[in-house]
Amino acid sequence: MSCNDIKCAVSNCKHWEQQHCTASGIEVNVDGGGQSAQNQEKTNCSTFETE
Ligand code: SF4
Repeated sequence: MSCNDIKCAVSNCKHWEQQHCTASGIEVNVDGGGQSAQNQEKTNCSTFETE
């Protein structure tokens, strides 16, 4: 099963295919830790893996 609804622009991730994420699930964290992001740019996908 994949998360076809997750659009992603990180084309060098091994889970990426044609603008979407093919992982069964992803983990998103706040840059620098904690549970509150100041803005969109302070969030990141921890499931990212290089090809
Ligand atoms: S794991 Fe994260 S970075 Fe990789 S394709 Fe999925 S959403 Fe994008």
